[in-house]
Amino acid sequence: MDCIFCKIINNEIPSYTIYEDDVVKVFLDIEPMAPGHTLIIPKKHYKNLEDIDMETLTHINKVAKDMYKLLKEKLNIDGISIVQNNGCVQDVLHYHMHLKPYYNENNGINVEEVFNILKN
Ligand code: AMP
Ligand code: ZN
Repeated sequence: MDCIFCKIINNEIPSYTIYEDDVVKVFLDIEPMAPGHTLIIPKKHYKNLEDIDMETLTHINKVAKDMYKLLKEKLNIDGISIVQNNGCVQDVLHYHMHLKPYYNENNGINVEEVFNILKN
């Protein structure tokens, strides 16, 4: 299947992966709206919120809680917005949850620097 996020799961294209388990992969958005902008995706290809099952959604939310804690501890974010796009506002048609950090003062660090901080 020609899906960019399935290719990330299969390591056919590289990603800044900060966490993974049997159900999800978590990696940094390549065009972050702020440092630490993170995507959580199921390893199974679900298209969107209509498609995905409750058990997987519950697990994604559990991982979101853990990732929020990680981002707070390691990047000192001041807030976070959780977004999941569907329909005409969804670009990549493989379910993904955005974790978008907010800072009182933007630290300006790039994706690779964020990755190194989160992985240590
Ligand atoms: P949307 O489908 O509109 O919710 O957004 C898709 C998101 O995926 C955007 O924020 C992109 O920057 C991000 N994205 C697209 N390709 C990649 C990639 N190869 N690695 C990481 N993030 C990506
Ligand atoms: Zn996919």
